[in-house]
Amino acid sequence: MASKGKTTTTTSTTSHAPTTSSTGLRPVNNSVGVDDLVMLTEVSENSLNGNLQKRYKEGLIYTSIGPVLISCNPYKQLGIYGKEYIDLYKGKHEFEIPPHIYSVADKAYRALKSEHENQCIIISGESGAGKTEASKYIMQYIASITGSSQDVERVKNQILESNPLLEAFGNAKTLRNNNSSRFGKYMEIQFNYIGDPEGGKITNYLLEKSRVVKQTTGERNFHIFYQLLSGSSPEERELYKLLPIEQYNYLNKSRAYTADGIDDVAGFKATRKAMKVVGINEDEQKQIFKLLSAIMLIGNISFNPDNSGKTPGSTAADRQLISTIAALMGVENDLLEQALISRVITTGQGARVSSYRVPQSVEQALYARDAFAKAIYSKVFDWLVRTINKSIEVKTKGKVIGVLDIYGFEIFENNSFEQFCINYVNETLQQIFIDLTLKTEQEEYVTEGIKWVPVDYVNNKACVELIEKKPFGILALLDEECLFPEGNDNSLLEKLGKHFASHSHYSKVPLTSKVSQFIINHYAGKVHYTIDGFLDKNRDTLFNDLVSLATSSSLSLLSEIFQYQPVVEELDPTTESSKAYDRLKKSGFANQQAKNAIPTDKKRPITAGFQFKTQVTALLKSLYSCNPHYIRCIKPNEVKRALDWDSDKSAQQVKYLGLFENLLVRRAGFCYRQTYAKFMRRYYMIGKKTWPKWEGGDAKRGAELLLEELAIPAGEYQFGVNKIFIRNPQPLFQMEEKRNQR
Ligand code: ATP
Ligand code: MG
Repeated sequence: MASKGKTTTTTSTTSHAPTTSSTGLRPVNNSVGVDDLVMLTEVSENSLNGNLQKRYKEGLIYTSIGPVLISCNPYKQLGIYGKEYIDLYKGKHEFEIPPHIYSVADKAYRALKSEHENQCIIISGESGAGKTEASKYIMQYIASITGSSQDVERVKNQILESNPLLEAFGNAKTLRNNNSSRFGKYMEIQFNYIGDPEGGKITNYLLEKSRVVKQTTGERNFHIFYQLLSGSSPEERELYKLLPIEQYNYLNKSRAYTADGIDDVAGFKATRKAMKVVGINEDEQKQIFKLLSAIMLIGNISFNPDNSGKTPGSTAADRQLISTIAALMGVENDLLEQALISRVITTGQGARVSSYRVPQSVEQALYARDAFAKAIYSKVFDWLVRTINKSIEVKTKGKVIGVLDIYGFEIFENNSFEQFCINYVNETLQQIFIDLTLKTEQEEYVTEGIKWVPVDYVNNKACVELIEKKPFGILALLDEECLFPEGNDNSLLEKLGKHFASHSHYSKVPLTSKVSQFIINHYAGKVHYTIDGFLDKNRDTLFNDLVSLATSSSLSLLSEIFQYQPVVEELDPTTESSKAYDRLKKSGFANQQAKNAIPTDKKRPITAGFQFKTQVTALLKSLYSCNPHYIRCIKPNEVKRALDWDSDKSAQQVKYLGLFENLLVRRAGFCYRQTYAKFMRRYYMIGKKTWPKWEGGDAKRGAELLLEELAIPAGEYQFGVNKIFIRNPQPLFQMEEKRNQR
């Protein structure tokens, strides 16, 4: 009983270390505002924002709305993630201790163990709000509180080291964030029966590969290129044929070689260490670095027009460069040049098949060149993910905690297909949040027969449908346009304009404007998408000549990655727990097989948009089958300044994240709900009438006796069919204190 004891933890190494009161575990430093917004005395958006601001200024970046954690990026190290903090949060309930990312991680872990149900932690917020940092703290926490046998240590190490590796290849400096994730990631950690990590799996989502060949001014290419160029030894520079950084076209156009807070030399060391830990051997590492060097050199290939034939053709301007690249890639010089400057076209069927070579214009050759560089890079990235997965793979099935860290909502000056995909997945995540937090919460009151005042909320379902609905969502129309030989960006724009003329989330940009754009009214704001390149990026064509060239390479890695065929995995809802299955059923995903979505018509090419949508559908299905936890990240200012609160910017995020509605639902309702049995298991010892045993052992009766004895005002709680509902956290704090005094 009172297993926690009367700990008076002192962890005052920093000014923000929470201390605990002498009476129990309730911390005394939450005098700044309220740490659960449910306790606000004035319920308005202003007071919500004011409370966040007040706390933020004091370095209190975490605030909760019931189980939802709000995290405001401090842009400075606060010293709140050390071992003493991990010890402080380990095994504590959220009512015992101030909000913290560790509290969410601990809750997910405890639920996994006690409920034997899969858990997921969904981290959302705009670019630079702190999602990736949050996901790392969660991993670190879980690693720290679990066992330390040799096998478990190995798995933990591999899971933790996968981070610097994937960040090196998948993150880059953007105008919003110096370490921006340019891919989405869902990391699942699987636990054995005693609750120790035994393996895991990473699922990656659409890497922004266009960055390999082009970046906006002030942005960088992926970190790994700068790491390789600044961290290699002179021998390696020679081996990989590296040039001074300014000489690469893929790196020198955006006028940014360094990024504040990012040390490329140290990064390279970390990347190599991580490669070793996840089992990438020296030879494979060399092959990767050769390919990276080849990619950078591919960007330097230029072509001269060749008008000697019937159709305009081209030749590579620098033969020496071609042969350097060919040597790095383990392919024949001539074949490399030929694959870039010409295309084999095949016609006819059966015995009548004939093929001939068509020269490519300079423009077409440049296109093939960039497509090749992007394909090699993204295939190396996928290979890294597969290799990490092999190192942490487990054959047996067990319960998992999944952590979702996906690129945040983006509005740039120029938004293209990539932003469209990124914002689409964020839109769907917002929908899950609404579904499971606002909708489900209200539905629960109905099923439990609880009296309460319903709250209206903004539902973004219509916007999600605008994008993904078949057969006339934007993605479907885009795919259709890609099938027409004469289809182009402008014909697509026209079609979209016609279809969605009266759609509330879609608007046209006047034709008089210089740019061809359409506007989507997302939950997080209006975004102008420039149509240029949509079809091309969606088709994502790589000519067969380049594919066969790569598969013929003597570099085993290159030939392997071009032969790899992805498998679409299925989640079998019938093996999920009944609660999970319920959520799945309600979401409408239970009967929807992601596999069915793949066109049966084999001739129809699988487009980038289609692939992304299939992945998003599979992701949503996994998330719906887990018990969800939410972290809503806020980026308090645009300029990355420590503890600087831009009220307008922050208020805007509070608005679109739906935090105020979230608070209203939580307040109109009850901050705590628990089955009678579990409630009694935790608190039976604090009542005279319920300890050591309550009347007849009926948990509901026990709860009635207990609340009566504690003299909690009648309006503060309601008895549901299966659960007890308590309106405000104060009685719970009292009960926790009593429990600790026992
Ligand atoms: P994107 O969508 O672009 O990937 P993100 O939400 O993942 O953005 P992060 O990369 O996690 O953003 O955070 C951006 C930067 O903010 C970090 O590099 C770090 O400097 C700072 N930061 C974020 N969270 C914290 C924190 N809890 N403590 C200190 N600094 C932080
Ligand atoms: Mg990130």
